[in-house]
Amino acid sequence: MQNYLTPNFTFAPIIPERGQGSRVWDTEGREYIDLAGGIAVNALGHCHPALLAALTEQAQKLWHISNIYTTTPAQALAKRLTEHTFADKVFFCNSGAEANEAALKLARKYARDRHGEGKHQIIACTNAFHGRTLFTVSVGGQPKYSRDFAPLPEGITHIPFNDPDALRQAVSAQTCAVIIEPVQGESGVLPATAEFLQTARELCDRFDAALIFDEVQTGMGRTGKLFAYQHGGIAPDILTSAKALGSGFPIGAMLTTDRIAPSFGPGTHGSTFGGNPLACAVGCAAFDIINSEATRANTVRQSAKLTAALQKIGEETGVFQTVRGQGLLIGCVLAEAYAGRAAEITAAALKHGVMVLVAGANVVRLAPSLLIEGRDIDEAVPKLKAALEEWLAR
Ligand SMILES: *Cc1c(COP(=O)(O)O)cnc(C)c1O
Repeated sequence: MQNYLTPNFTFAPIIPERGQGSRVWDTEGREYIDLAGGIAVNALGHCHPALLAALTEQAQKLWHISNIYTTTPAQALAKRLTEHTFADKVFFCNSGAEANEAALKLARKYARDRHGEGKHQIIACTNAFHGRTLFTVSVGGQPKYSRDFAPLPEGITHIPFNDPDALRQAVSAQTCAVIIEPVQGESGVLPATAEFLQTARELCDRFDAALIFDEVQTGMGRTGKLFAYQHGGIAPDILTSAKALGSGFPIGAMLTTDRIAPSFGPGTHGSTFGGNPLACAVGCAAFDIINSEATRANTVRQSAKLTAALQKIGEETGVFQTVRGQGLLIGCVLAEAYAGRAAEITAAALKHGVMVLVAGANVVRLAPSLLIEGRDIDEAVPKLKAALEEWLAR
């Protein structure tokens, strides 16, 4: 097929056309088991009937009206998000990057409002990923994504992930925000330690800096709780969500407290499409299913099943040294001998009818539907093993 898109994406050699649950079919009619979930987005699989109903029902009422007005779906989704988290207020946007952009801008504004100029330093982690706008790519800790776009925004300091001492040295009265992914997703499915998060919380309290948790990937049920921070009980001041929030419909959100929210006074920030009624209606339907005990139980059950199966494949083939992660965000770390070759494995798996992801060059990542069934896993695992064996034999 002729490609009319800019060459920043390297597309796989198949063209998906249709999806249902954890299955996808391409334009040639071939079937795939989806363990990638549109990069941790399709939390309820493809074309879930409740989301389809919410979308079509809202489509017959109101598509867009602008932020000159609020709408029932926007208030309904914000109500759900605040009732089930630390937060009191929500800002809606359209993506993870925009949610983080809003979070970082709010942290700077809050610090300025409270303490005047100079308190603008943002502390972020090496290898973090926070999105692709110029600000978020600069705060992200992967220079390969930012350096070509210099000059970059200033006042950003990077410290090693999970290094509480480095955090203690970096945070000061000039710090306005510390931003952390509770599980670093893009760079290898690496969970933050409780000590690291606890230290961040204490330092932010001491210096009146905003603790921002980027839960764009870990949020909305992915790890077996609504948000990953709820495993440990260390709450942030600002939290960002996107990916699974619309479970396939584009929407992002920034959550914060009544203490900080007033710094986003009238006119300080905005978004044309943020709070779009279609997105929020789908978000409400997705929220109710994701936040149910049945979905949580399935996430925990299938996580254990899939993780055990991947560990077994790893031992049998020698390709994976460890399998890590939380809930249904799983990373298979490649053995030394195969370092740097995760992308070859995703290509091999696709040929065998299984969609998986990379997370950096050394980790094969899985982020399937939270509603994935045992039989999907039973079918996917031998295909994945066959793919690894064929790849090894080459
Ligand atoms: C995907 C991701 C983002 C960026 O989200 P977009 O919707 O692509 O802008 C930000 N942070 C984390 C942790 C992510 O995984």
